[in-house]
Amino acid sequence: MDLVRSKLLSAFPHGFTTRRGGVSPAPWDDLNLGGSVGDDPARVAENWHRLEAATGLLFARVRQVHGARVVHLDAASVPVEEADAVVSTEPGIAACVSVADCVPVLLADPGSGAVCAVHAGWRGTIARVAAEGVRALAEIAGAPPSRLLAAVGPSIGPCCYEVSPELADRFRTELGPVVAGGPAPRLDLWAANRRVLEAAGVAPDRIEVLGRCTSCERDTFFSHRRDAGRTGRQMAFIAPHQPTGGRALP
Ligand SMILES: [Zn+2]
Repeated sequence: MDLVRSKLLSAFPHGFTTRRGGVSPAPWDDLNLGGSVGDDPARVAENWHRLEAATGLLFARVRQVHGARVVHLDAASVPVEEADAVVSTEPGIAACVSVADCVPVLLADPGSGAVCAVHAGWRGTIARVAAEGVRALAEIAGAPPSRLLAAVGPSIGPCCYEVSPELADRFRTELGPVVAGGPAPRLDLWAANRRVLEAAGVAPDRIEVLGRCTSCERDTFFSHRRDAGRTGRQMAFIAPHQPTGGRALP
């Protein structure tokens, strides 16, 4: 199974899934991990089994609603609870979010080992959901924002994300120069989430933007916009540090 990883987060079990390593046919080919995109539930379940087997992790999932609520889960769960960020403090239990153009942000505290996975589409970005994740790690794990590590994962890039002039203006007002100009403005959600993280106190050199565009990389990633909604979902996940004496980190 091909997983994209962040160098900054290498001490934590984590990854961004790609299309490869699953059993689903087109248009969900082939590692579709989304349960409500028209794929056969038995195939989606097999894809999840493969992810669990490849990583040795269990997954704490939420029902994403493009908001800014964070939930602390310490057991595997199916996506029922409504939230757009998940904190885990239990080794072996991965916080995760589902995406197919929206920005996944993974946060990790090297001090406590606690982690958070954040789902930030344009609505979540403007609602500063990544900052809510930073705040939650401070409250739950006592993690000062300056100690956190952050990775901004594969998502639709400023190369491809055309938006309306109205939405571009809203982002300029809220978050500064995160829009490329021209008659068809293109929004840079990577830069926007970097600004949200930095404003929340995360150090600039502790933020890694992977710079992988889901829309450009057709063979590697699902892209909701490129595929006009007929596509699968990839997951971004991160689990706390294993306890001392636990099995080796991947
Ligand atoms: Zn692109």
